[in-house]
Parts: sequence; structure tokens; C-alpha cells
Amino acid sequence: MNVHLMQTGKVQIDRALALKEKGWHPAPYTGLLRSSKKKCWVPVSTYLIEHQKGLVLLDTGWHEDIRTNQRKHLGTLAHAMFKGVLPVGESIRELLHARGYSEEDLDYVLLSHLDADHVSGLKHVQGASSILVSREEWAVANRGMRYNKTMWKGVPLVTFDFEESGLGPIGKSYDLFGDGSVTLIHTPGHSRGMFSVLLKTSRASMLLVNDTGYSAQSWEELVVPGITVNEKQAKQSLHWVQQQAKQVDYVFANHDPSVKPMTITL
Ligand SMILES: [Zn+2]
Repeated sequence: MNVHLMQTGKVQIDRALALKEKGWHPAPYTGLLRSSKKKCWVPVSTYLIEHQKGLVLLDTGWHEDIRTNQRKHLGTLAHAMFKGVLPVGESIRELLHARGYSEEDLDYVLLSHLDADHVSGLKHVQGASSILVSREEWAVANRGMRYNKTMWKGVPLVTFDFEESGLGPIGKSYDLFGDGSVTLIHTPGHSRGMFSVLLKTSRASMLLVNDTGYSAQSWEELVVPGITVNEKQAKQSLHWVQQQAKQVDYVFANHDPSVKPMTITL
């Protein structure tokens, strides 16, 4: 199995969005009333998995609309919190084309959760055979201020149910191909339905934690993301990642600035 670690540009965030801070500020991760020195640029990753049973994309990164009409694409609230940049050649459509693929070649698009930087590019890959989101995530998708439902409007999403497998921090996972090679492990906390992806072959293994943590520091020091729907679960999920990190060959977080685009064969 080949795993392409790709980046669809970057996002500028307040560092309290990546690593939760305690202090006077009620919501430092918004970046409002915060010094520009606390802002940082981090990559927005997406992963293409060439598996013998199918072509799988994990998260979609930024849509090309980010280049021309960011405020409208993100919505005013999100636009006040973070900015995206998407250089030419780095949208998921362009990244797939550069590797000889089109959206119709994708057997699965997996959405780790529904934050804008993960689903913005969804309409570039809506021709995929199956676009999966967990039932827990979908239950809150169209409620509240956090998610931007225009990003999946008209796109046929399919919900899946985690199974009581005993795997992961709360014992729930979904085995994509039924052979243990691609397992979606429920790692809630940052969002309700968030999952990490465990890839396994007879030779090697890789854990893609998505936004369960923002970098190795997150799980080494158990620092949860700035936004959590359940802080206790977020910690439990990071603790599980910390244990896994000792066993698997690779662990990657979506927004880790130290991770560069590359292809790894497992
Ligand atoms: Zn993210």
C-alpha cells in the first residue's frame, strides 16, 4: 500500500487552536483580541491511499474558491478566525491529476470530521464512488455554528457506524475492507465523530490521527486541541495515540508543521 502525504496549502490559526491554553481569555482559539504573534501557519494535509482493494482519500483540504472568494466560501465567522492559502497545483483536484487520477477513480473519500479545512474541497471529489462520514459526526453536522453546511450541499454523503470492536480509546472502530488493513478508530473529543486511521500491512503500520492532536507535542504532553466538544474524551483519545505511537512505524497529525509531503510504502 502506498500512502501519499499531500498538503493543500496552509491555514493561519491562533496557536491556542492547536494547543489548548488556560488563561483569562474565554476563547483564545478564535484569535480575537489576541496578538498577531500568537498566530502561526500550519499545513492542511490530505492523504491518498493506494490500496489493492481500492483508492482511498482521507480528507479533502481547501477548495479552489479559497484563492478568490475566501470570505464567501468560509462564511464570515470562520473567516474571522482563520485564513487559508492554496497555491496553484495544491488543490485536491490538482494533486490527484498530477498523480494521474480524477475524482471518479476514488473508491472512498473518508471525512475524519467536518471542520472547514477538512471538507472545503469536497466538491472537487464528489464524483467518488462513496463518501463516508461517521454517524456521530453527521448527527451534529447541520446544527450550530461550527460547521458550514454549504460545503456538502448536494454531495451524497454516506454515514457509517463504528462497531464495538474493543479497539481505540473508547473501543469503537470501523474496518473499511474487512481485513484490518484500513481501520477507522473512533477518537472523539475535538469533534463528536472524529476518527483516526490505522493502516497495517504485514511489513509496517501507520496511524493518521487527523485532528485528534496537532503535533507530537499534543500526545507526548497530552495537550488537547483548542476546540473540544468533550475535553475528557479528547484527553483519552490523545492518551491512546501516545500508547500507539510506541507501537506503530509512523504517526502523523494533519496540521503538524514538521511533516513534509512525501510518499510512504507500507
Ligand atoms: Zn483541521
